[in-house]
Amino acid sequence: MLATLVFIVCVVLFTIAFGRIFCGWICPQTIFMEMVFRKVEEWIEGDANKRKKLDAGPWTNEKRLKKSIKHVLFFGISFLIANTFLAYITGSENLIKIITEPISLHLVGFASIIVFTIAFYLVYTLVRELVCTVICPYGRLQEVMLDKQTLVVAYNDVRGEPRGKLSRNDNDLLNLKGDCIDCGLCVSVCPTGIDIRKGTQMECINCTACIDVCDEVMDKIHKPRRLIGFSLRMVFAIMKNYPLMAG
Ligand code: SF4
Ligand code: SF4
Repeated sequence: MLATLVFIVCVVLFTIAFGRIFCGWICPQTIFMEMVFRKVEEWIEGDANKRKKLDAGPWTNEKRLKKSIKHVLFFGISFLIANTFLAYITGSENLIKIITEPISLHLVGFASIIVFTIAFYLVYTLVRELVCTVICPYGRLQEVMLDKQTLVVAYNDVRGEPRGKLSRNDNDLLNLKGDCIDCGLCVSVCPTGIDIRKGTQMECINCTACIDVCDEVMDKIHKPRRLIGFSLRMVFAIMKNYPLMAG
């Protein structure tokens, strides 16, 4: 009980200091989703914009082929994860017996492999980010654990606003626009589909995809990086109230 209490206190303290870093960088759900399943999806269907276009388009032969390859690979990876997961529960020797000996001797083990494979396949195909935004109790508790000193992924609205599309007629000296060119890429790449420019939101899992894509945009338009970056909430609150000081 003591160990459990220490663990819970550590988790809460860690979250207050570093925000949702666990969700973005340690949680197996995010790691498998972003580092394995999403990579496979990008490899077959392209980036977020191409995937949206493919999903909205008609069922052509190309779409059927891409979707079939993706789902076969997703099922195969889910099968591997299910076997690894089962090895943790039953021990690898027992898992090898389930795989190599007749099914009739290991009906429960065989059924477990099938059930876990289907469960992982459905989680990574259909449920996806709903695990982080709706189902996970740790995720639901995030907002009450963050305070003004918590490290969060944030958009620097002092620098970015007023946002506006880049125009050839913009004059650097007279330009009153902020650095955000309203390209929408930070929203397109966000796995939970939020617009970080609206402020810290419960759905943000600190995956940093929006930071990377915005940095690329800033490089292209020759502006400093980190319009979106890891920041302390407090710093942004002060900068918002005293923009001249921030400048
Ligand atoms: S990626 Fe950067 S420049 Fe583009 S909309 Fe988002 S914040 Fe603005
Ligand atoms: S807002 Fe940025 S860091 Fe947060 S989940 Fe979306 S892409 Fe990841």
